[in-house]
Amino acid sequence: MSIASFAELALSPRLQQTLSELGYAAPTPIQARAIPTILAGRDLMAGAQTGTGKTAAFVLPLLEQLQQQPQEGSPRPIRALILVPTRELAVQVFDSVARYGQGTSLTSTQVYGGVSIAAQVEALQQGVDILIATPGRLLDHLRQGALSLGSLSHLVFDEADRMLDMGFMDEIKALLKQIPADRQTLLFSATCDDNLYALSRVLLRDPELIEVAPRNTTAAEVEQRVYTVDGERKVALVEHLIKVKEWAPVLIFSRTRQGADKLAQQLGKAGINALAFHGDLSQGAREKVLLAFRAGTLQALVATDVAARGLDILDLNYVINLEFPFVAEDYVHRIGRTGRAGNKGLAITLFSPEDAPLLEKVEAVLDTRLPQQWFPGFEPDLTRFEPEPRRNSKAAQKQRARKQALSGNQSGKGKR
Ligand code: AMP
Repeated sequence: MSIASFAELALSPRLQQTLSELGYAAPTPIQARAIPTILAGRDLMAGAQTGTGKTAAFVLPLLEQLQQQPQEGSPRPIRALILVPTRELAVQVFDSVARYGQGTSLTSTQVYGGVSIAAQVEALQQGVDILIATPGRLLDHLRQGALSLGSLSHLVFDEADRMLDMGFMDEIKALLKQIPADRQTLLFSATCDDNLYALSRVLLRDPELIEVAPRNTTAAEVEQRVYTVDGERKVALVEHLIKVKEWAPVLIFSRTRQGADKLAQQLGKAGINALAFHGDLSQGAREKVLLAFRAGTLQALVATDVAARGLDILDLNYVINLEFPFVAEDYVHRIGRTGRAGNKGLAITLFSPEDAPLLEKVEAVLDTRLPQQWFPGFEPDLTRFEPEPRRNSKAAQKQRARKQALSGNQSGKGKR
């Protein structure tokens, strides 16, 4: 059955009204498929990236089910837990729960690390229906006896792949011991590997599997380009893109915190309003930076992978990768920051030849080739690519092939 409108979904008039107030004309594909499944009480494993509308895909049917179930006990017991990998995603999911749940009597709160625990304990003591949490801080609360998960009937893992990447497996196992086995479990993940499948087998009972885009594919609305450029000219190219090509606001990814700081400073010196965003900043500082970026007062945000996870900035048209990430799956997450909810996006990666193995890994994950091109005025100095390897060695053959490909590529359109 294909669902073309929210009216066809069994959501209460109150939720339907909220959706129409938000201007959501029709469900996104993940919403059309996940909402009926979740409302039917089934477990779910969904492969969906950020930007596909996945948050509403689980929040709406959760709100619907909780509204229908009678609330028992005072203070209210936690009935739904949404686990997320980072504080930024916690804040965003919490905002979504508040937005979609306006006009219902359901309550929610969020707990994550890096901020004082006392205020969170106070909020929990009031009793909430829905809790959004990062695994580590949630365990802290449980150990302190600040909350119980004994009445939980719905458990959601959002960006489960990232949770595993960040090493939360032990915390997840510890949490599961405190959560009733009789529950509905929903697992959302942008990418899927053996670890995730192993986790899904432990967590889910006869789940419905939904994949809105093939595994590990990037959002269709994102155009990807790889520019080969000499390492020391990358910053100049970024400046050019922002100042001359007017690529702003732009989200720039750096592999390291130091790299993010340095680039933000260099851009600042060039008169570009840029700030770094990474885990060394206090929670307050991170929130301020994000607020400035969302408000449009920043031209560039230079972020690390972990910090940028979960950023939801709808009008973002440009993403620049200063280099390929070490973890190929991060590439998918990075470029998923643009082209969200049907908007067009452009994601470029600045490539220097020493990153060739990382490019190959990304291409393997995407199962596609990313053609390299040159940016006019920033063409690489081919003579300096690699020290000449011995003639006819494998490396020499590879290098010759690469040079040939690149020199046939001056128009900026050729393939590797
Ligand atoms: P998500 O994938 O959950 O991060 O959502 C991406 C963005 O899409 C969010 O800003 C949502 O507000 C927006 N969105 C979600 N569902 C819809 C919809 N059905 N129509 C229009 N926008 C939506």
